[in-house]
Amino acid sequence: MSNEICLAIECTAHTLGIGMVKDTKKGIEILSNEKDMYVSEKGGMIPNELREHHRKVRDSVYEGSLKAAGIKEKDISLIAFSQGPGMAPALLAGLEFAKSLSVKLNKPLIGVNHLAAHLEIGRQITKTKDPIYVFVSGANTQIIAHEGGRFRVFGETMDIGMGNALDKFGRLAGLGFPAGPKIEELAKNGKYIELPYVVKGMDVGFSGIATKAEQLLKKGAKVEDLCFSLQETCFAMVAEVTERALAHCGKEEVILIGGVAANKRFCEMLDIMCKSRGCRFFPVPLQYCGDNGAMIAMLGLMQYRYSINTLNAKNADINPNWRIDDMEVPWIKG
Ligand code: ATP
Repeated sequence: MSNEICLAIECTAHTLGIGMVKDTKKGIEILSNEKDMYVSEKGGMIPNELREHHRKVRDSVYEGSLKAAGIKEKDISLIAFSQGPGMAPALLAGLEFAKSLSVKLNKPLIGVNHLAAHLEIGRQITKTKDPIYVFVSGANTQIIAHEGGRFRVFGETMDIGMGNALDKFGRLAGLGFPAGPKIEELAKNGKYIELPYVVKGMDVGFSGIATKAEQLLKKGAKVEDLCFSLQETCFAMVAEVTERALAHCGKEEVILIGGVAANKRFCEMLDIMCKSRGCRFFPVPLQYCGDNGAMIAMLGLMQYRYSINTLNAKNADINPNWRIDDMEVPWIKG
């Protein structure tokens, strides 16, 4: 198969993204990746507002995506959409648009797992074969590997995601939102203060660390020292678990996905750990780390090649609690 074009809709939370990719002899090429993000006045996400936002902007994002790709509707070969996991009202807005396009253009409809799409675009962009996936965003912290034909979670946070922990501390310290970039800057002039190091088996926890840092701040500790110590502690915990996953699974590559991949110190630590084991480390470029339509299109095309989860547009539905290990990924060879 080649020259097939997949259009995809990302619609699991705040972002309505529409991306297009093309199957070429050299690999999958991204043609366009347009998006519009819901922002509420008071912060947070109000489910019904989310759905209305996505319904309102989808036509213009779709037009923009066709234009950026330089193609016409008739060139589209298949439609993919993020079927889950995610917030039901947002997912429903994506589903109804995907169904209507599938019927209108008379093209196959593919349901895609949003988390698996984050991993697959990371793998393809970094040109890695079978890495350990370190996924660290606002809400997520997971260490994942492909084993036994599926993506499997080897370690994860027992409470909040690392990004949320940094933002929680940042709120109290008056660093603005998101606090990660400011914490990285301040940490350059900080000294180490001991904070709880929470690793249990392959899992990590960040909520207690953020609380302790907040308590120390109230007692007068320097904000720079706390930023430095938060980073060193949280990053070391994830590096430790990642190293164990590498050893356990016998993999030789690590990729870092998610907004916290912007942090140079985090990348440096993972890079040092990988080099010491003779492995290779790749941060995924930030433009492909956030929620986007191209990642759904990329995985949709891979699934289409292997006939995985092609749906009937009449009775296709969302899957808000879809687990990442609940789908086959046969194209990665361990
Ligand atoms: P999710 O997809 O998990 O719901 P999200 O969409 O908010 O969350 P991302 O956009 O991937 O997640 O990442 C945002 C997080 O990344 C924020 O918590 C932010 O503080 C953090 N972050 C961004 N830049 C940096 C940085 N330089 N250092 C540390 N953290 C950072």
